[in-house]
Amino acid sequence: MSNTQATKPSVLIVGGGPVGLMTAIVLSYNGIPVRIIEKNTTNRPGQRGAGVQPRSQELYSFIGILPELQKLSRPLMQMHLYQPSDGGAPRDAHFLTPVDPTPACPITRPLSLGQSRSEPILRNFLLSRFGVALELATELTHFEQDAEGVSCHIVKRSVDGYKVEEDVRVLYVVGADGARGVVRKALGLSYEGQALEQHMIIGDVRVQGLGPNPQSRWHIFGSFATQGLWLRPTEWDTPDLYQIIGSGPTVDAAGLTADYPKLAQWIREVTQLEGLTINVEWASEYRASSRMVNKFSEGRVFVAGDSAHIHPPAGAQGMNSGVQDAYNLAWKLALVLKGLSPPALLASYSDERLPVISEMIKRTTAMFNRVSKEGVDRGVNADSALYMLGINYRWSGVVVDYRGSGGEEAKGHAYLGKGDGVHAGDRAPDAPGLTIAHVAPHGSLPELKAGEATSLFKFFTPAKHTALVFLPEDAERSAVGAALRSFPPGTLQTLAVLPNGVGHGPSQGSAEVDVTLVDAQGHAFSGYGSQGVGITFVIVRPDGYVGAYVRDAAGIERYCAGVFGGSAQ
Ligand SMILES: Cc1cc2nc3c(=O)[nH]c(=O)nc-3n(C[C@H](O)[C@H](O)[C@H](O)COP(=O)(O)OP(=O)(O)OC[C@H]3O[C@@H](n4cnc5c(N)ncnc54)[C@H](O)[C@@H]3O)c2cc1C
Repeated sequence: MSNTQATKPSVLIVGGGPVGLMTAIVLSYNGIPVRIIEKNTTNRPGQRGAGVQPRSQELYSFIGILPELQKLSRPLMQMHLYQPSDGGAPRDAHFLTPVDPTPACPITRPLSLGQSRSEPILRNFLLSRFGVALELATELTHFEQDAEGVSCHIVKRSVDGYKVEEDVRVLYVVGADGARGVVRKALGLSYEGQALEQHMIIGDVRVQGLGPNPQSRWHIFGSFATQGLWLRPTEWDTPDLYQIIGSGPTVDAAGLTADYPKLAQWIREVTQLEGLTINVEWASEYRASSRMVNKFSEGRVFVAGDSAHIHPPAGAQGMNSGVQDAYNLAWKLALVLKGLSPPALLASYSDERLPVISEMIKRTTAMFNRVSKEGVDRGVNADSALYMLGINYRWSGVVVDYRGSGGEEAKGHAYLGKGDGVHAGDRAPDAPGLTIAHVAPHGSLPELKAGEATSLFKFFTPAKHTALVFLPEDAERSAVGAALRSFPPGTLQTLAVLPNGVGHGPSQGSAEVDVTLVDAQGHAFSGYGSQGVGITFVIVRPDGYVGAYVRDAAGIERYCAGVFGGSAQ
């Protein structure tokens, strides 16, 4: 599919950071013409959001760029504490408690890949796959919206200083323009919260002489409670480049970042190591804040990522949360722009993301305070919430579960989930060990071959809903197609999942089933809690969350009425 910029854009995306890029990619996947602008004249240097959490990796795998990210990145390493806060001998420790992968959660280790390396992968993918180029040196200055669209004023700057002003009319604007961006401010959204007291040094430095095998661990010197230094090895191909964070009440962040030789000297002093060679590539003073909007949109204009919420870097949630905002919004916006869903669907973006972000800010702020006041080793996170695999939307008005809605109470479990099996609103688990039994020749996945091994994650796509139809041996299959006809044409791919050992010729499937899978290892039936019950329909949304967990056509109709409104077939 090509989405060249010759087509008039429906959506203007403001900001070429990870969130703007992800929004552009998911909209482009759905065939929506977009324009994405970035006011910086060059692509940004610097590691910043390097921690890529397991849930974001899953989303990257759905859009097809995870292998490329993995090639460059490193797994989350242990920290080496040179001066542990208990006064004990130097030792290694985990920053986030490791969790073993399972069939339902195959990715449980964060990756480290600096934004200066991950953003080019997103940009190149957007350009090569969809023909959409990030427009640098292009700034949104102001906009006005009315019932039909948004009029935007853009200024383009050329290398020789010329300015070209442009008025652009689009149907929607997504402000992914960071914490200081114009979009949120122009909308008058609140950004409640506080700036935290710590002034930090952030940057990238080249360091040689850190001892044997320095690439195998993070190096933590001193304590952020007094003066602390964190040196994290970056990518495989930059062996002497480290991300630096320096902080503590006695640290003059402003003075040190204004004078790189002085900063190098400070690093030598804090490490107390002889013979270090240090070159500061860039450094800047950073003051963490905890803030979020009261809602994620006003009319036809949305905010996402740091523009909507900002929080301390502890726990590596900022970019990850923003990328997840983008995914949540973009598939809905695409359906509305195609005329398949009513604009009311877009309200669910705010409804779903607000409780998640509010919980995330509480967790990261608490963790940051522990790290800052008691030392990095005291900030170690003992639960797995920060892997973001438990994030869910059980309370959402557009998810349907035959066992009832999660209701307001579910918002209290927005980050970790309840651990009581898969419900509507939850992350749709993976299930490996499936065998393709039959592929409908005129279905939406004709390229697949019977007999191949596969897993559910290989099917999830930002461009379609995926119906998983769990068919026990004795289920009445003829009703399957009729039940799924509430979906508008082209919005659904249907996978029938049969237990192992059941006859599964094409004649036993339904004409509407694209692919019939045999659950050879039983992970799909057990992971989705659909053993020992009749037919179960699990509708997985384009963002990989369960939209409906129902037992009959009426449940699917309810889901489609919520998402597609009057346009549901
Ligand atoms: C030290 C540090 C470590 C971090 N570590 C992590 C981590 O490990 N994991 C994690 O998830 N997050 C981390 N973060 C947070 C992460 O960097 C941010 O959350 C992320 O960059 C937000 O992405 P964004 O696209 O929303 O905004 P940004 O990355 O801020 O991008 C917004 C872009 O919009 C552009 N822009 C602004 N106004 C306009 C305009 N009017 N017109 C056009 N363009 C405009 C800006 O120039 C900018 O390029 C860290 C942050 C810091 C500071």
